Amino acid sequence: MNYFERETRQMKPFLRPLFFSLILLATTAGTAIAKEATWVTDKPLTLKLHMHFGDRYVWDDNWPVAKEAFRLTNVKMTNTANKAATNSMEQFNLMMASGNLPDVVGGGNLKDPFIRYGIEGAFIPLNKLIDQYAPNIKAFLKSHPDVDRSIRAPDGSIYYVPYVPDGTVARGWFIRQDWLDKLKLKQPQTVEELHTVLKAFKEKDPNGNGKADEVPFFARDFQEAYRLVNLWGARSSGSDSYLDFILDANGKVKHPFAEPGFRDGIRNVAKWYSEGLIDAEIFTRRARAREQLLGTNVGGVTHDWFGTTASFNEALAPTIPGFKFVPMAPPADSTGKRWEEDARLPVRPDGWAITLNNKNPVETIKYFDFYFGRKGRNLANFGVEGVNYDIKDGKPVFRESVLKAKQSVLNQMKDIGAQIPIGFWQDFDYERQWTTPIALVGVDMYQKNKYLAPQFPGVVMNKEERAIYDQYATDVQTYMLEMAQNWVLGAKNVDKTWDEYQAKLKSLGYFQMLTVMQAAYNRQTGKH
Ligand code: CA
Repeated sequence: MNYFERETRQMKPFLRPLFFSLILLATTAGTAIAKEATWVTDKPLTLKLHMHFGDRYVWDDNWPVAKEAFRLTNVKMTNTANKAATNSMEQFNLMMASGNLPDVVGGGNLKDPFIRYGIEGAFIPLNKLIDQYAPNIKAFLKSHPDVDRSIRAPDGSIYYVPYVPDGTVARGWFIRQDWLDKLKLKQPQTVEELHTVLKAFKEKDPNGNGKADEVPFFARDFQEAYRLVNLWGARSSGSDSYLDFILDANGKVKHPFAEPGFRDGIRNVAKWYSEGLIDAEIFTRRARAREQLLGTNVGGVTHDWFGTTASFNEALAPTIPGFKFVPMAPPADSTGKRWEEDARLPVRPDGWAITLNNKNPVETIKYFDFYFGRKGRNLANFGVEGVNYDIKDGKPVFRESVLKAKQSVLNQMKDIGAQIPIGFWQDFDYERQWTTPIALVGVDMYQKNKYLAPQFPGVVMNKEERAIYDQYATDVQTYMLEMAQNWVLGAKNVDKTWDEYQAKLKSLGYFQMLTVMQAAYNRQTGKH
C-alpha cells in the first residue's frame, strides 16, 4: 500500500470524493499533496530484491524501516529470498545459478561475488549512474577515497554500493583497577611494567582467596595471544580480521607471521606463557572466556571490544564487591611506541547491487542514494523518526523506550530493518548513545591519542590472481597457525625452527600469494 492509499483508506467514505478532487486540484497546480522531498519517482515503483543475510534474515516489506523508506522515496522493495533458508551464501549462489535475477541483490560478504558477477555482466556498473543521479554517494566517495578505491573492480567499475561502518576504535586493553589498587600498583605504561603487573596478579593473590588461581592475561579469541607480539613492535594482523596481510612502509604486501619482527615477538610471548602469565587454556576456552574468568573473579587483563567488555562492570557489581574492569592505554612497546593494532574496517564487504534485469536503474540508484542523504542515513541507523528517535538540536536521539528496553539497541534496530547490510553509511552516534560511560572513556582515549595502526584495506584480485591465491592460501595459513601455536605453547623453539618455517612457507606457495596480492594492490593504487 502506498502513502495515498493508506491516507485515503483511513478517511471517512463521504470525504473521499472531496479528497480526490483536492488532489486533482493540487496536481493541476503542479504538485502532489503527499509528495516527499526525498521521493525519487512520482509514480510508485516496486522493485524485486534478493536479500538474505546473517544466515537467518531476509528483507521484510513490513519492517517499519522498509515502510518508511517507501513513504519517503516512493520506491518499494519486495523480497524474493527464501525466508526459511539458513545459509545466506547458498541462497545467493542458488539465485545467481537460476538465472532468474531480481532487480536488486543485497546482503553481507558479497563484495567478491558482486565484483566477479559484475565483470561477467550480471550486475551493471554504477559509475555513470552515481555520477549523474546519486549526489550523496558521489560526494561520499569523493571525501572517502580509500573506500572508493577498495570497492572498485579490477576494471575500475563500481558494481555495488557498500555498507560503510563509522567509528574507528574496536578492541582495546582492559585491566582490573581494583586489583591494581589493592596491590598498590599503577596502570602499566610499558611492556616491562605490564610484565611486572601480570606477575603480581599471579603471585600476590589480588582476589584474596588465598589461592594462586588468578589468570593474569586472558582473551576469548586465541589470536589475541599472537597479538601480544605488538608489545615488541611487531604486527599480528593488518586489519580487524585476524591473520590478515599488512602493507609495510614501502607499500609492499606481506604477512605479519612471516616477518622477523614476529619471530622476536612470539619468542617473548612464549616466555610469558611459560611463566603462567597467559591463560593456559587460551587456545580452547573461546567465546565465554570473559563470563568464566571475570565471573569467577580470576581474570586480570584482556584485550577485547570496548562496549561489551565494559558492560561486565554492571553485570558483576552485585556479585564481586569493588569489581572495576577499566580501559587502559596500550603499554608502550619495547621500542617505546604506544599503539593499537585493532580498528574497525573502513568498509565492509556488504551492500547492494543492481542486476542487468533491472528496468529502472536510474530510480534504483536514486533510491540507493537516499540512504547516503541525512534522512535516509538516519532511517538506516536510528529507525523511524517520531517512533524510535527524535531530532534534538538537529541530531537524531534515541527515545528512552529504545535505550531502556531489555533487548540491545542493535537487536531492536535489526528487528525493524535498521543496521542491516544494505549500502549505507553507519553513524557512530547511534552506538555512542547506548555505549556505557566506562567504554566511552576507552573509545575516546584511543581516538584522541591516535593509537590506531593503519588498516590494510584488502585487494580485489582478478580471476587469474584469485585462482593462484586460492591454490595456496589454506595450506599457508594453516601452517602459520600451527607453528604459532607450537611456539606459544613451547612445543617448538622459535629460534631453532624459524629457518625451517621460512623454507616451508616458501614451498607451500607463500611468495606466489604475495606476488598476486601485490599485483592487485598496485593496480588498485595506480602503481605499476
Ligand atoms: Ca587468588
